[in-house]
Amino acid sequence: MTLCIFHADLDAFFVSVEQLHDPSLKGKPVIVGGDPGTRGVVSAASYEARSYGVHSAMPLVQARRLCPRAIFVPVHFERYVKASQQFMGLLETMATIVEPLGLDEAFLDVSELVPDFDAARTHAAKLKQRVHDDLGLTASVGIATCKIVAKVASDYDKPDGLVLVRPGEEAFFLSELAVGKLPGVGSKTGETLRQLGVSTIGQLAVLPQDVAHRRLGRYGEQLRRYAQGLDNSRVEPRGEPRTMSRETTFQADTRDISFLQGTLRSMCEHLSRDLRSHKKQATTVTLKLRYEDFQTVTRQSTLKEGSNAGSVLYDEATRLLGQLLAGNDRRVRLVGVRASRLSVPQRQLDMFAPDSAMVQNLERAIARIRKRFGEGAIRSGRDR
Ligand SMILES: [Mg+2]
Repeated sequence: MTLCIFHADLDAFFVSVEQLHDPSLKGKPVIVGGDPGTRGVVSAASYEARSYGVHSAMPLVQARRLCPRAIFVPVHFERYVKASQQFMGLLETMATIVEPLGLDEAFLDVSELVPDFDAARTHAAKLKQRVHDDLGLTASVGIATCKIVAKVASDYDKPDGLVLVRPGEEAFFLSELAVGKLPGVGSKTGETLRQLGVSTIGQLAVLPQDVAHRRLGRYGEQLRRYAQGLDNSRVEPRGEPRTMSRETTFQADTRDISFLQGTLRSMCEHLSRDLRSHKKQATTVTLKLRYEDFQTVTRQSTLKEGSNAGSVLYDEATRLLGQLLAGNDRRVRLVGVRASRLSVPQRQLDMFAPDSAMVQNLERAIARIRKRFGEGAIRSGRDR
């Protein structure tokens, strides 16, 4: 059966939410990330700011140099989470399965909702219209028979794009695009591929398999399949996961400890949200690093008691980071955190107790935790 998959991605998400909040920011070079006098990095930049070469993860100081008239705005994480929840809620009404990828993007399986790809296009247009009407934001949507092609397609005509890749045209669609447009190809992999004479996705698709394997390992073989428009992975609903994880591949390999810690802090906060949204806590924390030479290492530790607090996950992850970095001086291209041995927090069980005073106490406690967590999320991140 031919699948019909959407990748829906909000355009310049953080910036757009800030512009909703303060319409005077519309049409201007806006950089979300905080005070440009600090050591922080750019979380997001408007398209106007991007035209000066500003991009996310760039030091704020450098962004100001490139675009002196940019307007710098602090990160308001709670605003993005709220908008994200509305977005995901809307998507749930328009697909059989929704798989969120982050705050502002998701895969949708609409195979059972549309009879053909023309109907899919109409459905996607309706989705975009509703995002606009209900949220005041624009989304780009890619439509294809598999996830990887849908994702490339949503990026193809940003912002406000709607790109349909018909069944059978996947490899053709991808072939002329720069190889860096393929998800998973960062600057380092891109450089390795360029050395092999590969600059387009089409060239990667016809790279001999043994060459791909020799230079990039199994990962290279997978990228080659993606380049051919082949991706069997299904859109996975938010179910009852046994582990939860977050990982980030950097634009450039790094040995900057405070940057790595800042990234870890942000990932642990996301992970904490993931855990709490599933009403889970974790007992085991695993840190994963991939070095510049593609060697991947993991180290795990067991918490004294289960937790889903971002600070607890972060403390453990950063301790493991210290251990893994101690023995070498290689730069890091990917960092990931996994929470496993998941269980239902004891306090969650108390919620079902008939004692209403206990329920009220619990609710107050949850509100306090949420409040504290929200503040923590705003304060921290990569600004430090
Ligand atoms: Mg986006």
